Amino acid sequence: MRLMEPGKRYDVAVLGGGNAALCAAITAREAGCSVLLLECAPRDFRGGNSRHTRNVRCMHDAPADVLTDRYPEEEYWQDLAKVTGGQTNEALARMTIRDTATCRAWMQAHGVRFQPSLGGTLHVSRTNAFFLGGGKALVNAYYRTAQALGVDVAYESEVVGLEIDDGRCNAVRVTRDGREHRIVARTMIAAAGGFESNLEWLKEAWGPIADNFLIRGTPYNTGHVLRMLMNAGARTIGDPTQGHCVAIDARSPKFDGGICTRVDAVSLGIVVNRDAQRFYDEGEDFWPKRYAIWGRLVAGQPDQIGYSIIDAKSIGKFMPPVYPPIRAPSVRELAIALSLDAAALETTIAQFNAAVRPGTFDHTILDDCATEGLAPPKTHWARRIDTPPFFAYPLRPGITFTYLGVVVDEHARIVLDHGAPASNMYAAGEIMAGNILGKGYLAGFGMAIGTTFGRIAGQEAARHVAA
Ligand SMILES: Cc1cc2nc3c(=O)[nH]c(=O)nc-3n(C[C@H](O)[C@H](O)[C@H](O)COP(=O)(O)OP(=O)(O)OC[C@H]3O[C@@H](n4cnc5c(N)ncnc54)[C@H](O)[C@@H]3O)c2cc1C
Repeated sequence: MRLMEPGKRYDVAVLGGGNAALCAAITAREAGCSVLLLECAPRDFRGGNSRHTRNVRCMHDAPADVLTDRYPEEEYWQDLAKVTGGQTNEALARMTIRDTATCRAWMQAHGVRFQPSLGGTLHVSRTNAFFLGGGKALVNAYYRTAQALGVDVAYESEVVGLEIDDGRCNAVRVTRDGREHRIVARTMIAAAGGFESNLEWLKEAWGPIADNFLIRGTPYNTGHVLRMLMNAGARTIGDPTQGHCVAIDARSPKFDGGICTRVDAVSLGIVVNRDAQRFYDEGEDFWPKRYAIWGRLVAGQPDQIGYSIIDAKSIGKFMPPVYPPIRAPSVRELAIALSLDAAALETTIAQFNAAVRPGTFDHTILDDCATEGLAPPKTHWARRIDTPPFFAYPLRPGITFTYLGVVVDEHARIVLDHGAPASNMYAAGEIMAGNILGKGYLAGFGMAIGTTFGRIAGQEAARHVAA
């Protein structure tokens, strides 16, 4: 495809090629607009972080297709208020939550298929609808739909400049095939993700420790579009160090390791740092409610490394990550294999074992297996680590996505520094997630935000074009 016919003006330019961008592009096209979607990744890597996803969190008042029981608005809202500590815009959050009651029908109408949730350590069949074939299948379905509708899709097209004057985007500058192109469109929708794959920006926010972070998703979310909007006077929201950050296998690649690198063994054993010391209660709460704090916890340890240690009793009780655990017949040999101080690890495990009180182990409830007189305590699922062989997974902080973003209103319009909404600029997805996620995370909420705001941005851009 030629990027731009001479003299052509699109109604809508969508910057990005993930879930939020595709929802926006499809919606605007169905409303009659001419739409150009600019994806900087090559076709094979299209779809940003969205291609790594598995599910979307949905409210529902009764069992609905793949969702069991009920998950009413108020419970969803309370869950969000809790994890964000109130750092959320309630109006935008409730709008998103309500939209998740109906978004599945829209998704299905545009090619997405759902499946019941799989067993594993994340018990979410009540709250989360799983995509058949995962995020890759979702993204492929949306691209097929968008192209069948007549959306122009340009791959390997990186947005490198925005001509913004007085809160109005007049043109988008794009590099493709080694040349710069100028795209003219009546409206612009920014859906280019956060800045999680921009290692320099992460270092600016976190300091040199960011060198030890791994990025779970696409290398293409560099935050350049976000930075351009900030420079052009868009109001921002969110702390640059806040985001979704989980503990992943330290052997994972720097980028794009995806879901299979997550280590879910933490609550079944203990986690020690480089000095073979424990540093947090591994059994504080159910793993789905705690997995997203472990990235930050490991980031706070010397050299940003941790080791999840279990014994033979725990094998088969968690979803195994893609890398096999490091295995040894004794704690001493495990320590040597991990290059940890063997005497220190033996002491840590001996002290832990001595503090474990008798209880009835049950990983499906907050059981009564706890330590006594140990700091930090392990408050549930504490069992002695005494049955060989012993296993370890090395852990690093794995950044999923960042929360610093542009402020939007309920029409997905980008709000400018002086408080007024931009006249023709909209945002959806990670690039504005910080409006709703000040900190913390709820599994499946990233796709909820992108689907809701992507569709709103598409509708509003179309309304602007028609006005
Ligand atoms: C491993 C993993 C698993 C996840 N699992 C889930 C899950 O199960 N459920 C859930 O809700 N969320 C999940 N998330 C989070 C979820 O992926 C995001 O919240 C969501 O996909 C964001 O959608 P988006 O469209 O805003 O961003 P993305 O899907 O990341 O899309 C951003 C797009 O912008 C493009 N882009 C960036 N810069 C430019 C530029 N300058 N020019 C042109 N294009 C550009 C990128 O190439 C990309 O296509 C997961 C994330 C990861 C990494």
